[in-house]
Amino acid sequence: MEILVILGTGIDLMKVTNTAETAITSAGAMASSVVLSLSEAGISPQAGAPAADLLDKKFAPTAEDGLLVIDVQCDFMPGGALPVPGGTEVIGVVNALVPRFEHVVLSQDWHPDGHSSFASQHEGKNPYDETTFPYGQQTLWPDHCRQNTAGSSFHADLTIPQTAVVCRKGFRPEIDSYSAFFENDSVTATGLEHYLKQLGVKRVFVVGLAYDFCVRYTCEDAANRCGLDVILVRDATRAVGLPGSVEAAVGGLKDAGVRVCTAGELGTLS
Ligand SMILES: [Zn+2]
Repeated sequence: MEILVILGTGIDLMKVTNTAETAITSAGAMASSVVLSLSEAGISPQAGAPAADLLDKKFAPTAEDGLLVIDVQCDFMPGGALPVPGGTEVIGVVNALVPRFEHVVLSQDWHPDGHSSFASQHEGKNPYDETTFPYGQQTLWPDHCRQNTAGSSFHADLTIPQTAVVCRKGFRPEIDSYSAFFENDSVTATGLEHYLKQLGVKRVFVVGLAYDFCVRYTCEDAANRCGLDVILVRDATRAVGLPGSVEAAVGGLKDAGVRVCTAGELGTLS
């Protein structure tokens, strides 16, 4: 059965199906899940570029492990609207990891035109300036990852298996979302926690872009709020590198108990 759920202002109508059902989060808040199958998201599987030969044969994720591939989208690549230096270098490592996992989630930054996180919407502000939103401090960004544009699409070299699911975030006009679990108001859940827990996932491996924002906050929420064991694969991520952002990420991840290792070290994990 399909249910239509009215999100936010009522502009966004989203089909909610068995794989993307309304969830009750750990915080007790209702969340309209945006975890979609590839066909629901209108995305085709793709082979991607050859994988880097990095992984230890002993690395064998189980059904209790999930791979979270954060925002490997064209706008975050060099030459994109919000470029992450070295962004394309993560793809070969991610492609090595993807076939090892039964559960692969691709997060997708997915903004409407005129999103409140765009500097263009704030008179006198420039991209990368800070401002205050009702929920706290917010960095303003160049217009990026607008829905259904080339910039918001996954990079053509990324391996996307048929069984992957897509978690869209940042589509509410007034709220930005770095974490794939909770939007920047810290209350609005994306539905990813519910989705993973239904599957029995207890440990997540996090890769993608950008280390100091969406990867960082996804890892912190997974550990601090969702009670998941979290491993960040450091050669499968790159940073935007705003003043102080990398240092803050290092501290936040350490405080959250996130383990950090290279892809080549995954075979020795306990
Ligand atoms: Zn964004």
